[in-house]
Amino acid sequence: MTRTLSSYVAGTWITPDGGEAVVSPVTGATICQVSTDGVDDGEAVRHAREVGGPALRALTFHQRAWLLKDLVKVIAAHKQDLYELSALSGATSKDAWVDVDGGMGAVATYSSQGRRFLPDAHVVVDGPVQPLSRDGSFAGVHVGSPKEGVAVQINAFNFPVWGSLEKLAPALLAGMPSIVKPATPTAYVAEALYRAIIDSGVLPEGAVQFIAGPVHDLFDHLDGQDLVGFTGSAATASHLRTHPAFTSRSAIFTAETDSLNSSILLPSGAEGAHLDRFVTEVATELTTKAGQRCTAIRRAFVPASHTDEVVTKLRAQLAEVVLGDPRVEGVTMGSLVSAGARAGVERTVEKLLPGARRVIGDEPLPLVGDVDDAAFMPPTVLLADDASRDEVHTLEPFGPVTTLIPYDTVDEAVALIRRGGGSLVASAFGPAGADDAIALFAGIAAHHGRLLFVDDAAAASQTGHGSPLPHLVHGGPGRAGGGEELGGLRAVHHHLQTTAVQGSPDQLTALTGRYVPGAARDTSGPHPFTKRFEELSIGDALITGEREVTLEDIEAFAALTGDTFYAHMDEVAAKASPIFEGRVAHGYLLVSAAAGLFVWPDPGPVLANVGLEDLQFAQPVYPGDRIHVRFTCKDKGSARDPDQGTVTWDVEVVNQRDEVVATYDVLTVVAR
Ligand code: NAP
Repeated sequence: MTRTLSSYVAGTWITPDGGEAVVSPVTGATICQVSTDGVDDGEAVRHAREVGGPALRALTFHQRAWLLKDLVKVIAAHKQDLYELSALSGATSKDAWVDVDGGMGAVATYSSQGRRFLPDAHVVVDGPVQPLSRDGSFAGVHVGSPKEGVAVQINAFNFPVWGSLEKLAPALLAGMPSIVKPATPTAYVAEALYRAIIDSGVLPEGAVQFIAGPVHDLFDHLDGQDLVGFTGSAATASHLRTHPAFTSRSAIFTAETDSLNSSILLPSGAEGAHLDRFVTEVATELTTKAGQRCTAIRRAFVPASHTDEVVTKLRAQLAEVVLGDPRVEGVTMGSLVSAGARAGVERTVEKLLPGARRVIGDEPLPLVGDVDDAAFMPPTVLLADDASRDEVHTLEPFGPVTTLIPYDTVDEAVALIRRGGGSLVASAFGPAGADDAIALFAGIAAHHGRLLFVDDAAAASQTGHGSPLPHLVHGGPGRAGGGEELGGLRAVHHHLQTTAVQGSPDQLTALTGRYVPGAARDTSGPHPFTKRFEELSIGDALITGEREVTLEDIEAFAALTGDTFYAHMDEVAAKASPIFEGRVAHGYLLVSAAAGLFVWPDPGPVLANVGLEDLQFAQPVYPGDRIHVRFTCKDKGSARDPDQGTVTWDVEVVNQRDEVVATYDVLTVVAR
């Protein structure tokens, strides 16, 4: 009897009987059944809010970032199973690499971004402190706190691993529990992934729940602390976004939907290597995941004079494709997800044909392996005869299909690309800095979530038209859904409530755990560099002694460094400048002299200075001025090594009139 997939809700795996059969498009055999009978959506939401959310919020951003690192190890240990299951859905091992290894890569990236750019704290201060009074007694700051609801993640069928992990990772890092709902056709791959994740015990209970099949009244339970991240077709998104959870109760709905992505061979690159790279990119996008990729190239723009050459070269590359059972050695392209999906793509191709003709893919390819042929489709290239028609700019054949569109001018290409109504990605092939590349960028940037420019320098290292990267925005305006998944910290902030907090510097320091300039400093203790990480408190400070900056200092610094910029060396020229009244000290001399004032020279808990941030020179320092430093412990974060932490120090360099001449943050590694 065929197994029914299990859902994990409120701490329990639930396995119903029966349900919708999911058939392998490769073998034609039933793989599993899908049913959510007995799954209580309301209970899942309650459990996320009452159990998962508090457990995640009890951790700091850094602690959650470490959990993500552990999660990568868990997934890596189950990689082989995920590859084998993916093959049943028609994915080659290269496709599975994009999905499984790409998913692990996304989680690893969020782990590292969280530890590098987020604090070891429960809230994150977003942006600089805004002074709100002349005397510095009142200020404002933006603070991000995890929303207290649940992140519902509804995924498309094509990337059951990466597609769900790209949403799960930022939600977990932000401190929001997730309810994951995979698409039915590949839910068995997602089930294996979530069984591994949940049963590993790496995540706190309630941090992730999994609903393997249709949801019931899930959205009825959502409100203003919740969000839904949807990936799938534009039609499903339009239907879901009208639910009162979003229209009346302000739950947040974001969608990553379909997209008529473009690739452009620029006129300036219409020869040689640029043309060859363009052809390779189009061929890769057609065959990877059998073209079932939201970012695949659907419209390929070619200078009309080079259309024949592109068709010839594309035909030669696609002739190398080996279609068949992904489990057989040598197969380079698998099936679509189902026979129905293939029939749907064929129907869309028929609708495209009045304005185009099929130039590649009119004959079925021989199939390798003992497969059911119903879901296999050869790479198919159409050539637009009439690109002014709507079909090519509005219909998405979600399979191995692209349309070549000849064009004469970049303006014409820009106008046609914009008819896609907003897309996830476009790529352009041609030399750097060419006028046509700049015109294209200006014409289409606002209509895309991501743009890839491939020139000679980037040719070998570029990551591919179809590959969203965890550090960069994935999503797009208009038809692409209006979402912005991924994008590093942007995706994390999506799960945080931003609150403007106003108050005195003391109050803001106490609330955020981060020193706000103007707050009280504690200078009563020993030199802060003699304190170990755990002995340091935010606000521990040192007010240094004074040092006069002399002309000899300036000349010695110039001689040592070779920095003989006129403002330091030429009295007449400095005086004549609109900025200085005479020779001034080098800014870097001040930074160096400041270190000479604040460091504790002996070996001690402060092990190393690892950086300096936000350096601003507020006013010039002239020979004869006397400077001192206000040096304050601003922020503490954990480091990779359990024996060390990172400490950020607020530095103000002040002159004899008590005017701040330079400000910056110094980053140090401190022993625990
Ligand atoms: P789909 O049919 O729209 O389904 C997407 C998801 O929505 C599935 O998990 C589906 O679950 C679920 N769903 C459908 N009706 C629902 C409802 N009433 N309530 C809650 N959930 C519901 O799309 P698909 O066929 O899986 O994916 C193909 C499409 O996705 C293509 O158009 C492609 O371009 C797009 N896509 C976009 C991106 C992107 O990042 N922009 C990525 C991948 C795919 P069931 O399967 O259980 O019905």
